[in-house]
Amino acid sequence: MSRVIYNKVALVGLGLIAGSMALAIRRAGLAGTIVGTARSAETRATAAEIGLCDDIVDTPAEAVKDADLVVLCVPIGAMGAVAEQISGVLKPGATVTDVGSVKGAVVSAVGPHIPKGVHFIPGHPLAGTEHSGPRAGFAELFDNRWCLLTPGKNADGDAVARLVELWQGMGAHVEEMDVDHHDLVLAVTSHAPHLIAYTMVGVADDLRRVTDSEVIKYCAAGFRDFTRIAASDPTMWRDVFLTNKDATLEILGRFTEELFALQRAIRTGDGDHLFDYFTHTRAIRRSIVEAGQDTDAPDFGRGKGAK
Ligand code: NAP
Repeated sequence: MSRVIYNKVALVGLGLIAGSMALAIRRAGLAGTIVGTARSAETRATAAEIGLCDDIVDTPAEAVKDADLVVLCVPIGAMGAVAEQISGVLKPGATVTDVGSVKGAVVSAVGPHIPKGVHFIPGHPLAGTEHSGPRAGFAELFDNRWCLLTPGKNADGDAVARLVELWQGMGAHVEEMDVDHHDLVLAVTSHAPHLIAYTMVGVADDLRRVTDSEVIKYCAAGFRDFTRIAASDPTMWRDVFLTNKDATLEILGRFTEELFALQRAIRTGDGDHLFDYFTHTRAIRRSIVEAGQDTDAPDFGRGKGAK
């Protein structure tokens, strides 16, 4: 049974993630009041129009006043500046968390602005879409997804437990992780794949100039899936690569080595190597489906005749 976990929740930034949090918190009745703020008047007006929060205010400092939980939902590169703006207004005993896709950079940028007596528990929900903005949010986004928290060794146990309860109430599974390990795991599972998708779509676009739109016209499932990933928000992903540089470069180095090995197998006609490799990757896909992290419906559940 859900209960009110925080009396007042402040969402700073009102995009896909904050919008989904507002709807998921409301769905389960986890907060007394939800207050939101965003950088632009336009986003604030949209959020007010669709009734995303109980109250929309103009500045982060206004939003976090008296808040028991503050969630920073802005791009990673903006976290430090926002933390600086709210630093002097945070309520003693409050918890500040974030949803940024990279944790080391957020800890360095936000940590110094957290006053004594306020808990800082970084977080990252492993859920998203290629859409942005307050209208993109939906209450089910976190259902059965993981949320990783990186509280650090000295974090207050009760404050962590409360935040875990909030994420669970929003439908997520929660795991705690060390900051560096988080950034390495995400480089493998999310950051490098996004860079590869961006590159593949860029390459195809170069080709399109030669083949005069055949790439678009005959775009098959593999390429279509790359284009969905490559449609992700440019600001967010620029910040991810600038701030998770070492882990991403490490994974891209390994990727390049594997690619060369596959290239060699194709050139030398080493079918056994290709078969074994693809058998192994197919098993990985199966284990993701078995873990409930994706559907095994054909064509990713798009259904017959889906475009
Ligand atoms: P979004 O839909 O683009 O929304 C971003 C919000 O941040 C908007 O309200 C925007 O305000 C505000 N903002 C942008 N630049 C800002 C700046 N320089 N200063 C202050 N506010 C600024 O983004 P999102 O997808 O919700 O992502 C938010 C965070 O969640 C990011 O840190 C991202 O790494 C993380 N995350 C994203 C996903 C995903 O798949 N999208 C998944 C997990 C975690 P305006 O609209 O007024 O410009």
